Amino acid sequence: MKYYILFGPPGAGKGTQAKLIAENFNLMHISTGELLRKEIAEGTELGMVAKHLIEDGHLVPDEMVIGMIQHTFEQHKEVDGFLLDGFPRTIAQAEKLDEMLMQKGEQVNKVLSLIIKDSTIFERISLRAKLEDRKDDANSTIILNRIEAYHKKTEPLIDYYRNKGNYFEIQGEQSIEEVFACICKELE
Ligand code: AMP
Repeated sequence: MKYYILFGPPGAGKGTQAKLIAENFNLMHISTGELLRKEIAEGTELGMVAKHLIEDGHLVPDEMVIGMIQHTFEQHKEVDGFLLDGFPRTIAQAEKLDEMLMQKGEQVNKVLSLIIKDSTIFERISLRAKLEDRKDDANSTIILNRIEAYHKKTEPLIDYYRNKGNYFEIQGEQSIEEVFACICKELE
């Protein structure tokens, strides 16, 4: 079983690239953001807790997303591998993921990191707000909270994975096709 992580700030293009990668490399795409939005739409207890945090641009508690990931791994034993999009987002999540995989005799195979500037994050999220009607894209305070959460809690993962030697950077400010071509080179 392969385990790949698509890493990067909000608006880096993870969702778009994850769909292309999953299709072309026969991987199951797991987006914790999408799973959480589904819980909110279905009005579950978990969704109700997550809603306010997400809509204010904050991260949801680690245990919540870890539980969702664990559940999805268990439900899909038939696939060749998983592509994690938007998870892990904290060191605690990364450590828990390593622990879960170690228990199965597996490990994270590669971390593909999309690099974009804060100013581009802002432009892209503002544009997406018009196309996708996401409440967490809706105003600049929320977008700034998400950028801050990325720098404070998620960015430290770069060193975490760099130290493990499985971290690869891809310039995210290119066309969708160009970014995908760079990703393919790393995965083939
Ligand atoms: P995304 O669709 O990946 O941009 O995620 C949307 C929102 O869901 C994030 O801004 C967080 O509030 C929440 N979220 C998604 N994944 C995680 C995670 N791994 N840890 C904590 N919060 C998350």
